[in-house]
Parts: sequence; structure tokens; C-alpha cells
Amino acid sequence: MSDCIFCKIAAGEIPCRKVYEDDDVLAFHDINPVAPVHFMIIPRRHVDSLQECDDSHRDILGRMLLLAPKLAREQGLKDGFRTVINTGRGGGQEVFHLHVHIIGGNGPRPL
Ligand code: 5GP
Ligand code: ZN
Repeated sequence: MSDCIFCKIAAGEIPCRKVYEDDDVLAFHDINPVAPVHFMIIPRRHVDSLQECDDSHRDILGRMLLLAPKLAREQGLKDGFRTVINTGRGGGQEVFHLHVHIIGGNGPRPL
């Protein structure tokens, strides 16, 4: 996926403000934050969206979700956070490389 912006970020070709990385997962701050804390967790290996996930993605999806509370806490979100996964054009997805938004620091809000 040579034209994918998040693949380029994962490859270090485009800079980002890194939150966390390991061999399989990367987390970095959103360039256009909607809250005091707003970062994304992505798999290094490209997958378009949650719509394209199957059993082979079970482990990576679990890893991404289980990282969320740990990284949120490390980023100062001591009393909770929101997770958002926009899926497909109808779901408002703009970057077609799977990502979980972690958002917080601006108080509770409706869905
Ligand atoms: P989506 O609407 O696909 O769920 O969210 C894509 C997110 O990626 C948006 O919140 C947007 O601000 C963020 N984004 C787009 N391009 C870049 C970039 O080059 N760097 C970073 N850090 N975030 C980006
Ligand atoms: Zn990609």
C-alpha cells in the first residue's frame, strides 16, 4: 500500500508524534486533535478498515484494543477515554488504514 499515509508513517517516511511502537503496532498523536488528548493506534501491516478484518486479524485487533487503556493512562487520561473506529465511507472513515482513535480530556459527551 505505497500510497497509504499511515503505512508511510509506520515506515518512518512521514514523521509523527509517536506514543508507542512495537513490531506490530504503532500509536501516534492525531495531526488534527479534537480533544486535549487524541491519538491513534494502528497495525503496522496494512488493512483498509474493520470491514476487511477476519479471523486472521483477531490477535492484532486484541492487541490494539488492550493497548488503549494502558496508553490512555500514560497520556494522562486517568478517569477514562473514548475509543472510535470509523469504518468505511458511510462511517466517516477518511484514512483507509485501520485505526482506533483514543480521545479524552474534554469531559464526558454523548455518543
Ligand atoms: P478517520 O476519519 O479516517 O477515522 O481519521 C483519520 C484521522 O487521521 C483524522 O483524525 C486526521 O486528523 C488524521 N490524520 C490524517 N493525516 C494525518 C497525518 O499525516 N498525520 C497524523 N498524525 N494524523 C493524520
Ligand atoms: Zn496503510
